[in-house]
Amino acid sequence: MELRLYDTLNREKRVFTPIDRGNVRMYVCGPTVYDFAHIGNARPVIVFDMLFRLLRHLYGESHVTYVRNITDVDDKINERAARDFPKLPLNEAIRKVTEQTEKQFHDDVDALGCLRPTVEPRATEHIVEMREIIERLVKGGFAYVAEDHVLFSPQAMNAANKILPRYGALANRSLDEMIAGARVDVAPYKRDPTDFVLWKPSKPDEPSWPSPAGIKVMGRPGWHMECSAMSWKHLGEEFDIHGGGIDLVFPHHENELAQSCCAFHRNRMANYWMHNGFLQVEGEKMSKSLGNFVTIRELLSDWPGEVLRLNMLKTHYRSPIDWTLKGVEESKKVLDSWYDIVGDDTQALGEPDEDVSAQLGDDLNTSGAITRLHAIASSRVGTSGQGQLDVKRNLKTSAMLLGLLGNTRKQYLASNPKAIVVNREAVDALIADRTAARARKDFRESDRIRDELAAMGIVIRDSKEGTTWEVAR
Ligand code: AMP
Ligand code: ZN
Repeated sequence: MELRLYDTLNREKRVFTPIDRGNVRMYVCGPTVYDFAHIGNARPVIVFDMLFRLLRHLYGESHVTYVRNITDVDDKINERAARDFPKLPLNEAIRKVTEQTEKQFHDDVDALGCLRPTVEPRATEHIVEMREIIERLVKGGFAYVAEDHVLFSPQAMNAANKILPRYGALANRSLDEMIAGARVDVAPYKRDPTDFVLWKPSKPDEPSWPSPAGIKVMGRPGWHMECSAMSWKHLGEEFDIHGGGIDLVFPHHENELAQSCCAFHRNRMANYWMHNGFLQVEGEKMSKSLGNFVTIRELLSDWPGEVLRLNMLKTHYRSPIDWTLKGVEESKKVLDSWYDIVGDDTQALGEPDEDVSAQLGDDLNTSGAITRLHAIASSRVGTSGQGQLDVKRNLKTSAMLLGLLGNTRKQYLASNPKAIVVNREAVDALIADRTAARARKDFRESDRIRDELAAMGIVIRDSKEGTTWEVAR
């Protein structure tokens, strides 16, 4: 199977060739831990988990290193800590907020069927590496000190030797355009409006560390610096894949790329830059003021995590998603029907379906792969014995490549928060009695049975093909 990935930097889909097949390396920007993650935040987590699984399938489980950081130093964290724990010293309050939020995040994404990354570094544990990169940038003439800040100069980068990439290449913008678009109130210590912060002084009480570049006061890193330091420490100066949401392309990834390439004198940081599209809810941008802000936690109290995962993967990762209740309901029906087929088998057996693999290999075409899974599930109709067994195995093994159908049917039903425990045999028997009553025109009895089923939370539908039923929601 061939893997082709779309690279935001070169704006093309290319065959994926790892730098080292023995250790395929991927870095994805992780959460800033101060509050429950929303369903938009779940998108990069699920998408890159899907890619992680595919890489493990292709190169072997122990030959892929997936790093997803935790940003635990940030103004939003400081504000939340001061608000929630006003009586504690700020640093202690910050630790409480970050530990608590990190745990919530793990619980949420575990429930979405995501594997833990190989390494989950915390920004505050990589200050030494950040200082080292900053020192290199200052020595190389790419950064300068002003009013106890260290600033990076994109102009200096673009004026330097030819090995380096052009600042603005990832976002596909020129420096002139950026200068024109810069805000009017540019900080007075910046030489140029496009200069960005690598290090800044801490206010009293804020987390602080000894500063680099001869600065006497204590300080803290800028956000972009964190990822350059953590990816360097865990994956080296150059690695295979760098991912995140599309909103991170500029300025975050553009700046990470600039810092790393200038510090290590390289023309690339990652070979493939991958970005997931944005998610909106019921046709609108998600925001607290619109009241359509949904956390993963809230959704998990209504739906099994696997239903949310399938709903996310139905759309190609680069397209925008409109997250709707209707979509989630449909995903639930699909998973219910697939679990009816695969039952309680615990293992994947054999190789996944070739078409499913080929779809995923084509820049993670999960929607194409899911269409194929539907076809596999439908091919069961009219088969028996060995044929049925083959369909069951093929469906399970192939869906597991997407991180789906990895549970037994029992586990899946148990994970359904609003599940009504249904005795399927009893329901089927009642429906058979009702069909018999209708056949002999005993409508009083058939209505009585329908009401009995309704009281059990079962809705029935009659059609020419017969009677079907489902659990009412
Ligand atoms: P943040 O906590 O805002 O830094 O976001 C963490 C990750 O979630 C980043 O990779 C973002 O790009 C991604 N993200 C945030 N909001 C959305 C959204 N509505 N749709 C898709 N991805 C998002
Ligand atoms: Zn990052």
